[in-house]
Amino acid sequence: MALSFEAARTMILESVIPLPPEAVPLLDVVGMVIAEDIRAPWDMPLWNNSAMDGFAVRAEDCVAGQTLTVDGYIPAGGSASGITVKPGGAVKIMTGAPAPAGCDAIVPIEETVEKNGKLILTGQVRPGDHLRIRGEDVSKGELVIAAGTALRPAEINMLASFGYRTAPVFRRPKVAILSTGDELVEPGEDIGTGQIFNSNDYSIAAAVKQLGGEPVLLGIARDDRQSLTEKIAAGLEEDVLITTAGVSMGDHDLVCDVLEALQVERRFWKVDIKPGRPTAFGLKNGKPVFSLPGNPVSSMITFEQFVRPALLKMMGHQRVIEPLVRAVMQETIKKKPGRVQFLRVRVAKDGQRLVASSSGDQNTGILRTLLRANGIAVLPADLEQLASGEEVDVQLIAAVDIV
Ligand code: AMP
Ligand code: MG
Repeated sequence: MALSFEAARTMILESVIPLPPEAVPLLDVVGMVIAEDIRAPWDMPLWNNSAMDGFAVRAEDCVAGQTLTVDGYIPAGGSASGITVKPGGAVKIMTGAPAPAGCDAIVPIEETVEKNGKLILTGQVRPGDHLRIRGEDVSKGELVIAAGTALRPAEINMLASFGYRTAPVFRRPKVAILSTGDELVEPGEDIGTGQIFNSNDYSIAAAVKQLGGEPVLLGIARDDRQSLTEKIAAGLEEDVLITTAGVSMGDHDLVCDVLEALQVERRFWKVDIKPGRPTAFGLKNGKPVFSLPGNPVSSMITFEQFVRPALLKMMGHQRVIEPLVRAVMQETIKKKPGRVQFLRVRVAKDGQRLVASSSGDQNTGILRTLLRANGIAVLPADLEQLASGEEVDVQLIAAVDIV
């Protein structure tokens, strides 16, 4: 009995939990999810300071045309201690330097003329101008990054601003990747009749990396129990194991047998989807084991549907399924009811709406049309025909590529 697409994905997501957090150097945390609330350890900025290169003044002394006496200089990185702006006086100050006592505004250099140590103002000055006030960005104790936030450059800047060298983030999963098949040869090796290069390892590893996981390539297992047992046992040492091929009904499709022999608890085998029907999923001591079909297109599409959300959840992400967009199909698509179909499409903008058309031959053996696609249309299981002009749900592969 095959499982529905939704039931299979739900079962996977209910089976995985975030990996334990660890302290990771700030240079390596982009895209990772922070495991703890981060509160400001102090006011930011910690002292009043200048937002411009200019002069610290008392706004009440400043009328256009007025001259002030420049007395003192505070560079960035300097100190304002012992420096006070006196009535009728001004202190030269650089951007970011601490504001001296007595001042309530900064006059930018561009609004002054300096002559023989005297300052002539050319513009208006109001109290508070160009002054950054202690705590105006963030006040001490304020929640600045909530647990569960995926770290972007802005969050990383905030952490560094508070002196963090590492951040407590959910660990990256180590994802073992195993290709299976007697016909496979590694790229770069000599290739003989009937052989093909193992390409799946590279697309799956790339997809794992893209979402922040660490691929661990196990190489190729041959279609025999011993080879599969050795490699699969090694893969079960990592956080996640992904195998490709060897899960269909062929004479040499032994992956499911070997997984069972190694006490991987099977949760499902076969899903009502196209492509990707033979996909299997199981657990070994709580570690997820994905058995994806061997066709490159099928393995990539099933990775997107099943493995990607699981890895994201293990990395602590709270939203693990990309929202679908609606697009108007530009041609009629017929399909057999019973399976969700993932259709490789090209999505384009048409005024305010998105339109989609097939990227070409949808056969699972055709890789070219996956390269041409910038979206995957998800046709519901019970659908028999999508008429031209009807709307369809689409997973965007490359949003920047939609023009
Ligand atoms: P299988 O499920 O083992 O029958 O494999 C299905 C198809 O995928 C066959 O045409 C295989 O040659 C092909 N295939 C399996 N593994 C790989 C791989 N690692 N790279 C590229 N193609 C593969
Ligand atoms: Mg095979």
